[in-house]
Amino acid sequence: MDCNKIQDLILTDYIDNQMDEKQKNMIETHLAQCIGCQEFTALVKKTVVEPFIQAERFVPSENVWIEIKDNIMQEQSVKPGLWDALTDGMSNLLRAWKPGLVFASMAMLILGAGLLRQYSIYDQELKSAKAVETMEYLSSVTQTQEGGAIDESEGFGTTIEKYFL
Ligand SMILES: [Zn+2]
Repeated sequence: MDCNKIQDLILTDYIDNQMDEKQKNMIETHLAQCIGCQEFTALVKKTVVEPFIQAERFVPSENVWIEIKDNIMQEQSVKPGLWDALTDGMSNLLRAWKPGLVFASMAMLILGAGLLRQYSIYDQELKSAKAVETMEYLSSVTQTQEGGAIDESEGFGTTIEKYFL
């Protein structure tokens, strides 16, 4: 058996101990005489197996969970205070009184609000325009497919239609 095949088996079944004795013996005989595969096995054990063994042994202390819980609670209590933080920031800005800066931020706010409104109006117009387009497209498609406009009062004259319309 060549080294590639051996190393494939080592990487999968051998390190997982999912191997019958015969295969295991075969690999170990190969390993005994092949330095390349010995090094490969050592590397695999070091990089693939060892981190998991250490991970299993690591049990976080109860303090870790308490800290995590505290952090979550703090985060939740910060959210309602966001507005306070914002207004604090504004009043600090006013206290520092940099007229240029205050004016600039006010201008940005007004400009931003204006843009937002314009955008939403534009968006609505776009949507209705698209709806009209879609309707026109659909009616043109049905007309060409049926070879003319469908007379809605007449229907298709099928029996199934009586149940659904
Ligand atoms: Zn080998």
